[in-house]
Amino acid sequence: MAKYDYDLFVIGAGSGGVRASRLAAMAGARVAVAEEHRVGGTCVIRGCVPKKFMVYASEFSQQVKAARGFGWTVEAPTFDWPAFIESKDLEIARLSGIYVTNLQKAGAELLHGRATLVDAHTVAVGDQTYTADKILIATGGRPTVPTDLPGIEHAITSEEAFHLEKLPESILIVGGGYIAVEFAGIFAGLGSKVTLQYRGPNILRGFDDDVRVHLSSEMEKRGIRIALGCSHESIERAEDGRLISRLNNGMRFTTEQVMFATGREPHVKGLGLENAGVLLNDRGAIQVDEYSRTNVANIWAVGDVTDRINLTPVAIREGAAFAETEFKNNPTSFDHDHVATAVFSQPPIGTVGMGEAEARKRFGQIDVYRTTFRPMKVSFYGGEERTLMKLLVRADNQQVVGVHVVGPDAPEIIQMAAIAVKMGVTKPQWDSTCAVHPTAAEELVTMR
Ligand code: FAD
Ligand code: NDP
Repeated sequence: MAKYDYDLFVIGAGSGGVRASRLAAMAGARVAVAEEHRVGGTCVIRGCVPKKFMVYASEFSQQVKAARGFGWTVEAPTFDWPAFIESKDLEIARLSGIYVTNLQKAGAELLHGRATLVDAHTVAVGDQTYTADKILIATGGRPTVPTDLPGIEHAITSEEAFHLEKLPESILIVGGGYIAVEFAGIFAGLGSKVTLQYRGPNILRGFDDDVRVHLSSEMEKRGIRIALGCSHESIERAEDGRLISRLNNGMRFTTEQVMFATGREPHVKGLGLENAGVLLNDRGAIQVDEYSRTNVANIWAVGDVTDRINLTPVAIREGAAFAETEFKNNPTSFDHDHVATAVFSQPPIGTVGMGEAEARKRFGQIDVYRTTFRPMKVSFYGGEERTLMKLLVRADNQQVVGVHVVGPDAPEIIQMAAIAVKMGVTKPQWDSTCAVHPTAAEELVTMR
């Protein structure tokens, strides 16, 4: 008789947990996966996927403008928020269903409920306990807000933004990271009056400085007001139901909604980590090595709960590497270098490798190739938008160490550029690539 109920118990059926569960089960392991909410996790239910649908929905306002420039007659378009939300929720339910089916097909057993560790080999889900040889923690993250801010209870986070009853006529978005700039674009495109308030000198700390400046100026061209270098002191509800935000620089905003996009924290609370002796690092994330092993020999953790690079494809690759190592006898660790990323702002950003400041710090002399131009389509309707492209090349050996694009299709463009950068492409090799014409991407291979 088997010593444990399962070979592998996975806590959390999000991006990382589902991939690990499926691969382990397909390799013949007896796998259980517990999910307290809905299968698919943050990405499918309240992250990447519904966010992208919202981006698509909001981009039509710009496209209508463009269409008129190309000779189309478009009567005053209107947007039906409840109809969109209904379609989005139906599609999310369909996708979540596919994840459930895929888990079942692979032979993994799905348990609904909140899982807590009882000890290093035992997990409780509701009033049942299960034992497992190996345990994988893939519980993701959740939004954090400054809980000591007076009136913070009036604010929403991205979690609620997906389910508002109506499109807000005005919204103040707090933060300067991915979620803040993405939702600023979404709400502005759909017709809300948007203000973005960020405590630092410019949005998207950590990105290349030209990218930050370019995006904030493009966002302003689309009517988004950006208030920098200031913080909230309080939020109050006015008699008419609107929210009054008071800032530390004396500014005051009255808006229908206030959304905090001030980061996410690893989801470890109430998980019973102490019962199994699993340690956290100084950022409150589960401490792991390059094979996603925790300090406890039979417990691993992948994805946002480890706070390495908090992106879906990374969680998936960490989950896959774990399954490959532990259930296919093929030690594999995911290489976190040169992970490309996209911000689905409007216009979007695609970036791989280092920003200029970081590259100079690391390599000394850097050759910078930079261009901005008006995309072809824009000139037809007299738009003011500009695209930015930037290549950073080590002066000593001509290796391309950073590629940054802000403009239409940037996320699609960067996925391909990332292959070359990951392979260690040099500028002469890059330049030997013939352009595809007429495209925006050709500018990337013609910068001299
Ligand atoms: P998750 O996908 O969060 O899954 C964790 C699961 O564990 C959840 O389903 C949760 O309910 C469950 N769980 C937690 N605790 C327990 C418990 N005790 N018992 C049982 N179940 C539990 N990344 C991108 O790459 N591209 C994007 O465009 C993008 N957009 C995003 C937009 C938003 C608004 C947000 C919030 C995130 C976005 N991300 C994006 C990040 C991406 O969603 C995460 O990096 C990814 O989902 C992490 O996967 P994970 O497996 O670590 O955790
Ligand atoms: P980010 O970490 O990207 O940004 C958080 C922002 O909130 C920063 O601007 C930060 O400022 C600010 N902030 C933090 N604490 C406070 C505070 N107490 N008061 C005021 N401002 C504060 O987090 P997000 O929530 O935007 O997104 C979480 C993660 O999810 C991302 O980092 C990314 O990994 C992932 N994600 C990926 C997406 C994609 O791939 N397209 C889309 C959405 C999310 P400061 O910079 O000064 O610290």
